[in-house]
Amino acid sequence: MNSTREQRDVVVIGGGIGGLAAAAILARGGRSVTLVEKAPRFGGRAITTEREGFKFNLGIHVFYAGGPGEAVLRELGVTLSGGQSDRSLYECQDGARISRLPVDADSLATSALLDPASRAELAQLLRQLRTEPLHAWRGRPVSAWLDQHVRHPVVRSLLEAVVRLATYTHAPDEVDAAYALSLVGSQRGALLLDDGWQTLVHGLERATRAAGVELIHGAAVTDIELGPPHTVRLPSRTLHAKAVVVATDVMTAARLLKLPTVEAWAARARPVRAACLDLALRALPEPWRLVVLRLDQPLYYSVHSRSCRLAPGNGALLHLIKYLPLRPSDLDEDAREDRRQLEAWLDELQPGWREVLVASQFLPRIQVSGDAVTAGQQGLQGRPSLIVPDAPGVYLVGDFVGARDHLAHASLFSAEVVARDVLERAA
Ligand SMILES: Cc1cc2nc3c(=O)[nH]c(=O)nc-3n(C[C@H](O)[C@H](O)[C@H](O)COP(=O)(O)OP(=O)(O)OC[C@H]3O[C@@H](n4cnc5c(N)ncnc54)[C@H](O)[C@@H]3O)c2cc1C
Repeated sequence: MNSTREQRDVVVIGGGIGGLAAAAILARGGRSVTLVEKAPRFGGRAITTEREGFKFNLGIHVFYAGGPGEAVLRELGVTLSGGQSDRSLYECQDGARISRLPVDADSLATSALLDPASRAELAQLLRQLRTEPLHAWRGRPVSAWLDQHVRHPVVRSLLEAVVRLATYTHAPDEVDAAYALSLVGSQRGALLLDDGWQTLVHGLERATRAAGVELIHGAAVTDIELGPPHTVRLPSRTLHAKAVVVATDVMTAARLLKLPTVEAWAARARPVRAACLDLALRALPEPWRLVVLRLDQPLYYSVHSRSCRLAPGNGALLHLIKYLPLRPSDLDEDAREDRRQLEAWLDELQPGWREVLVASQFLPRIQVSGDAVTAGQQGLQGRPSLIVPDAPGVYLVGDFVGARDHLAHASLFSAEVVARDVLERAA
C-alpha cells in the first residue's frame, strides 16, 4: 500500500463524542484538522444500534442536566431532545420489599422504606449535602463520610445505592466522597435522549463536516512519533501535524505516545466497568413498574422508552445494570452469573418478559468511564491533565482527564478546553 506524507495543523485520534467535539471546534477556529477513528463508524461508547425498530444505546445512558458538556453541544449546534423520567414512579427494593424511592420532599415524606427516625435522618443529610461544601472530604472515601454521618442502616444502604447510581461505581471504600456526594447533593436532572445517543454523534459529525474536518474511519493509528512536527502513522497513511489530540482511552494513549507521564497515568487508572443487559419487549407485562434501585445488591432497572422515543408502538426498551467493583480480581467472576442475576431480577419485576422479548444485548464488562474518581487519587483534582507535560502540542481528551465533572460532560468539556488551548497558542 502507498504511504503518503501529509501536513496539517491538528490530528485528532479517536472519533467518540470527545474527539468529534474537539475536531469541530478546532476546524471552526480555522485550523486544518484530520480526525482518525479505528472503528467502522464514529461515536465510540455513544453509538446507538437499531434492531427491529428499537434503539439500543451501549447500556443505560442519561445526559445529566447542567453539566459543562451542554454548552459545548449548544455551541456546536447540537440539540438535545428527549424526556425526563417521572420521579414519582421511582421505587427501591430491599430484599423482597419494594417501596417508593425517597428522592424528593414528597417521596421522603411518604416512602414506606423509612420509619420516623430514619426519615428524619435522611431528610437532614440530604439538606446538608445540598447546602454544605464538601471539599474537605476530597481524598477521603464515601464510606468514611457515611461512617461519620449515618446512624440508620437503611439510610446508609440508600445513600450507597444512590452513589452507585450517580458514579456507576460499586466501591464505597474507594470512591472519592467530595465527588460522589456532590453529585448526590446536586440532584441533577437526567435527560433520556430521543432516538438514543447516536443523535449526539450525528450532530457532532455534522458539525465536523460543516467545519471542513477530514474524517477517516475504519483505520487505527498505530504509532505516534513526537516532533515537532508530530508524525501520526496509520496503516496506509502518514500524517504530520503541529498538534495531536489523543481522544482514546488512556491505555491506548500511553501505548501511542510512549511518554513516562502518560504511561504512569495508564498504569494507575481504575476503569469503571458494568454488566449491562438491554432488552426490547413487545409490551411491558407490568406497565407501571418503570424504575427500581436495588439497595441490597448493586443493581438498577429503568424503562427508558417510557420517557423518550426508543421503541416502536407499545414496545418497551429497558435497561438493567450491575455496578461492578473496581478491583480487577473481583471482575474475574463468571460474567454469565451476572446475566443470570439480572434476568432473575427481571423475572420478579416483569414476570412473563421472556414471552414478549424481541431483542436483547448483554455487555458483560463494558467500560463506562476510563478512570474512577477515587479518594486515593485525590478525587477529580488528581486526574491526568489535558495538556501533556513535557510534550508541546500533545493533548488528551476523554472522561478520564481534567478536574471538571465526569462521564460525557468531562469528555466534551476536555474537548473544548483542549481546542481553545490549541487555538490560542497558534494565534
Ligand atoms: C454502559 C455505559 C453507560 C454510560 N452512561 C452514561 C451516562 O449515563 N451519562 C454520561 O454522561 N455518560 C455515560 N457513559 C459514558 C459516555 O458514554 C462516555 O463518557 C463518552 O461516550 C466518552 O466519549 P469519548 O469520546 O471520550 O470516548 P469513547 O467514546 O471511548 O471514544 C474513543 C474512541 O477512540 C477510538 N480509538 C481507540 N483507539 C484508537 C486508535 N488507535 N486509532 C483511532 N481511533 C481509536 C475508539 O474506537 C473510540 O471510538 C456511559 C458509558 C457506558 C459504556
